[in-house]
Amino acid sequence: MSALAPWLHAQLKDLLAQRGHALLLAGPSGLGQYELALALARAWLCEQPGPQGACGECSSCHAIDVRTHADLCVLMPETLSLELGWPLDEGAQKEIDDKKRKASKLIRVEAARDAVAFTQFTRSRGRTKVILVYPAERMNMESANTLLKTLEEPVGEVRFVLATDAAHQLLPTIRSRCQTHAMVWPGEDEALGWLQAQPAAAGASREQARVWLQAAGGRPDDALVWAASGLHDAAWGQLPRSLARGDWALLSDWPPAQQLAVLQKLCHDLMARAAGTPARFFPDDQLPVPPRWGVLAQWSRELMAAARSVEHPYSAGLMQEAWAARTRQVLASAGQGGA
Ligand SMILES: [Zn+2]
Repeated sequence: MSALAPWLHAQLKDLLAQRGHALLLAGPSGLGQYELALALARAWLCEQPGPQGACGECSSCHAIDVRTHADLCVLMPETLSLELGWPLDEGAQKEIDDKKRKASKLIRVEAARDAVAFTQFTRSRGRTKVILVYPAERMNMESANTLLKTLEEPVGEVRFVLATDAAHQLLPTIRSRCQTHAMVWPGEDEALGWLQAQPAAAGASREQARVWLQAAGGRPDDALVWAASGLHDAAWGQLPRSLARGDWALLSDWPPAQQLAVLQKLCHDLMARAAGTPARFFPDDQLPVPPRWGVLAQWSRELMAAARSVEHPYSAGLMQEAWAARTRQVLASAGQGGA
């Protein structure tokens, strides 16, 4: 297991000093909820934990690192379990292997029932059992209600760590059973130092790393995705003006959802500038003159509507052309004194 980022490590220490049996790690995506949840689970189950967390050397720590700990139940959407290397229930794995169904993007109620059974029946190797749920908002009503009873009145020594990017989407009954921890944002220096030390960002200058972090709105995990994509700092800075000219070259190879996310960031920054506050994602001095507020508000609504259906585009090519034309129109409207 790789070392925890410094701002996560500080949070881990604080959380280990708390006694509640159910924690909810909540905050916007990209701040390391999953890494922190796993570090907590690892520390709770460790045979010789210290104030800094798990020892990293005992058989329990090792069992977690190879994803086979008998006292840890990881409740995730199947797509994410597969991506992160957590084994699925045999039956579920077979259905997916046999192409009877696709891996689920939600936390299935069957998995939630297995988690409940895990707390009640499975023999444990130690004293404590842990259920890790991530992202907790991917539980539908049925899954959440299945888990709720165990969360309220766990049998024996069961601890929960739920992590979410969207706490407002959780059932209030789930939220109220947990002690909520608001994820802490890293300082810029801390985030930049961490980013430059990651393999995906190897050899990157401070300035380059700063652009990735800014493009990610300050969220380190998202910045790492930008680093892995090889986004060049100059290209990002020039993007707003390129789009204003109708030049879509930088975006054209990206998946539609990512293109749309960039437009939403641009729209956000133009609204910030129109409101007299600093931009968040792009360098202030590279932004075009913001169009009128009404134009931006309308564009923002259109982009949100598009985001809801972006995973099922009728034609990616046509969609992209329409977005490019619309973006150019919005950005050009500022120079015309209104639209
Ligand atoms: Zn250990």
